[in-house]
Amino acid sequence: MTFTSTEAASGALKSLEGRVAIVTGGSRGIGGAISTALAADGAIVAVVGMPADRERTDTLRASLNGSAKLVHFFEGNVAEYDACVAATNAVIERFGRIDILVNNAGITKDHTARKMTIDEWNAVLGVNLSGPFFMIKSVLDHMLERGYGRIVNISSVVGHMGNFGQANYAAAKAGLLGLTKTLALETARSGITVNAVAPGFTATEMVKLMPQAAIDGAKSRTPVDRLGEPSEIARVVRFLVDENSGFITGSTYDVNGGMYM
Ligand code: NAP
Repeated sequence: MTFTSTEAASGALKSLEGRVAIVTGGSRGIGGAISTALAADGAIVAVVGMPADRERTDTLRASLNGSAKLVHFFEGNVAEYDACVAATNAVIERFGRIDILVNNAGITKDHTARKMTIDEWNAVLGVNLSGPFFMIKSVLDHMLERGYGRIVNISSVVGHMGNFGQANYAAAKAGLLGLTKTLALETARSGITVNAVAPGFTATEMVKLMPQAAIDGAKSRTPVDRLGEPSEIARVVRFLVDENSGFITGSTYDVNGGMYM
């Protein structure tokens, strides 16, 4: 791929044509918007997800114009290291490379700490924190060998602020920021950037699971007075995975309507 110096100097986003991206849980919600944005700019997108994600990836694909053929499904539970290795190997086997990894898959299992079960703690830490580490570990040697990579971890405003009833989720999302900074340091000289995006409350299935009073409370604590849209998170991810964003690493981008500054 070659690009003109004018493009680089203007700071314009480069086409993602020829790039291969993994988006975990990339068939719906924020992940679906990220898959859509990357495919729209030419990337081949490998959605890595649970079995139910296969059908939803078909639905997502059907909604895309032009870029539908760029979106593919690979089964993989990110909480299992062997499954992450198998999925990333399958992507490399099929497309020859992985340039971009977006660790988006996440779950909630809310209870106050007193009532939270150990299973609920372990499940959320397993998907939301071990998952990104397992996926990064699975692609790292490949990216280091090629001297290029763009990794984005989807954290949360809750990782900064904490949230009533979400000890497991807040701990995982805060841990992801430490993981992001450490990986950024370890890969900075190898053409790889590692950043985090910390969304505020965003209109997806995950938020619909919350009681209405909690949704209203989140809105009222958001200065722009509304929930975010998945596409508003995706456009920041698109910016971070750009080839021209090579000087940005170890950062957290807050996209939260002013909820946390
Ligand atoms: P969502 O609609 O619930 O989607 C989450 C996706 O992750 C689903 O496709 C889900 O698939 C997948 N997933 C869950 N467990 C998985 C596993 N073990 N392996 C692979 N995939 C798995 O959630 P969302 O709201 O779009 O959230 C996306 C990310 O943004 C999450 O990391 C979330 O914590 C973060 N975030 C969301 C908000 C918000 O307000 N929505 C705010 C801040 C941060 P299945 O359903 O098939 O399991």
